[in-house]
Amino acid sequence: MDCVFCKIIAGEIPTKFVYKDEDMVAFSDISPQAPVHILIIPKKHIESLDKNEITGKMVSTACKIAKDKGISDSGFRLIFNSGSDGGQEVAHIHLHLLGGEKLGRMIAK
Ligand code: AMP
Ligand code: ZN
Repeated sequence: MDCVFCKIIAGEIPTKFVYKDEDMVAFSDISPQAPVHILIIPKKHIESLDKNEITGKMVSTACKIAKDKGISDSGFRLIFNSGSDGGQEVAHIHLHLLGGEKLGRMIAK
């Protein structure tokens, strides 16, 4: 399958994981938009946000990682981009965890 995130999970693209468990992994975004920019993804290739049950665990995992990174108290942002208008470039659902500085307002056009 030609999915960059499945390749990361399969070890075909060397990646330093900040978190791993039986059904998800997390690693730093290759093009960070904040001092902390981590992607939380399910090991299973799921393309779209609807009809899946793993999003709750993705959010709680992101919160744990935020604590580990020491940005829990100062605050952080979680983003799911979904579909074309939502700016989803990789068709393997992923949750962005952003923080480590005061972030700007929500939408960049
Ligand atoms: P999205 O636009 O929500 O689909 O986000 C996809 C994200 O994946 C972007 O922020 C990219 O910088 C990131 N990305 C793409 N390829 C890699 C990679 N090999 N390692 C880490 N992050 C990646
Ligand atoms: Zn995939």
